Amino acid sequence: MRPGVSAGLILSLSKDEAACRRPSFWKTGPDLLYVRLDPEEPDTPLSATLDLSRVSTETTPAAPVAKPLVNLSGLTRPQLVAALVESGVVEHGKAKMRATQIFRWMHHRGVTDFAQMSDVAKETRARLAETFTIARPEIVERQVSKDGTRKWLIRMAPGIEVESVYIPGVGRAGALCVSSQVGCTLNCSFCHTGTQPLVRNLTTAEIVAQVQVAKDDLAEWPSDKEDRVLSNIVFMGMGEPLYNLGQVADAIEIISDNEGVGISRRRITVSTSGVVPMLEKLGDTTQAMLAISLHATNDALRDVLVPLNKKYPLDTLMAGVRAYPGLSNARRVTFEYVMLKGVNDSPEEARALVKLIKGIPAKINLIPFNPWPGSDYQCSDWSTIEAFAAILNKAGYSSPIRTPRGRDILAACGQLKSESEKVRASALRKLSLAAMAGVLSDDDEDEAA
Ligand code: SF4
Repeated sequence: MRPGVSAGLILSLSKDEAACRRPSFWKTGPDLLYVRLDPEEPDTPLSATLDLSRVSTETTPAAPVAKPLVNLSGLTRPQLVAALVESGVVEHGKAKMRATQIFRWMHHRGVTDFAQMSDVAKETRARLAETFTIARPEIVERQVSKDGTRKWLIRMAPGIEVESVYIPGVGRAGALCVSSQVGCTLNCSFCHTGTQPLVRNLTTAEIVAQVQVAKDDLAEWPSDKEDRVLSNIVFMGMGEPLYNLGQVADAIEIISDNEGVGISRRRITVSTSGVVPMLEKLGDTTQAMLAISLHATNDALRDVLVPLNKKYPLDTLMAGVRAYPGLSNARRVTFEYVMLKGVNDSPEEARALVKLIKGIPAKINLIPFNPWPGSDYQCSDWSTIEAFAAILNKAGYSSPIRTPRGRDILAACGQLKSESEKVRASALRKLSLAAMAGVLSDDDEDEAA
């Protein structure tokens, strides 16, 4: 149907409607579909209606549909206890102990098959395999940059593909940038991901799977292995994490659990465009580090760059940041500021930024903009970025300029053509911002230095 044609659903046809069902006015499609044509232009459809009143109510036995197995990787330990008891696979008295064993096999050893759980009785393993899964999603594509940056395109389900990027040398040893949604609703004008409509939120298991896939590829099992290269997690991939906070919070609980991956909550950063009402809950439930996608110092400009600002303007946002649970000099908020030539990069803007964040324990990541086809922006000149950083430094704020990473594997994406590939390219551009931002806690920076 051409865009603009309306579609409807009716339970019965009125007399008039039935009378209208004459040649050149209604075209009856196969089965129950009626297409109303424009009397002036008989080839032009005006509306389509599905007539359910003619659907047979006789039932035919449907083929049994297999219920998808629950992926245990997406359950926190208390949820795992409950799932084991509810399924009847493990008796109540032993559930807590069994859950810890299984949790360690999944998140400490990284196994993908219940058969490998050697301290669990054979019969229990067989029953677990009938009821649950711990399988990884499919890796559609893997690329490694000259500078060591790695990127995975992961298919979570048909049509549900996300990318994760590992950036070495960021944080204590290296950071993984993960996605929380497929697509995004927020349309930030500098971000290509914002041009992709939201497909859906990722589940906890799908968020955790991004960490597991990275650890598989980096040979990071068991999780307490020495010289680990994955030390930090940043929720800075596709999507707005605070619009999927329940799943993000559970994923953080799993990733930070010392019986599993054991990445400290101080090394997990959640980046938001400023969903102010959810900030307190984020801090209370996750104790994660906070990053704000700021990019402007006045409402008129931020309304354009981050349209969510119209709902939560800078005054409101800054009040929310000041109240973020646990904020202190040891746990500073990170402000992300993408450098856009002639838009937000003047010395006046730098001074306005200092004024805006006054009194907030903070650091600022300056992100050179990575232009994408169709974008209206250009990256600021390097000397302009340095002058901007100098003003922030002089005011006492750490303001590292993030060097783009993994450019060689991102560059090829500009040549992608199909719609789905464009989606991949947009995700990469967003993820490349994350690579450039390299959100770190100050301790991490000291340790990395
Ligand atoms: S910057 Fe983040 S919140 Fe804004 S459109 Fe891109 S993915 Fe969405």
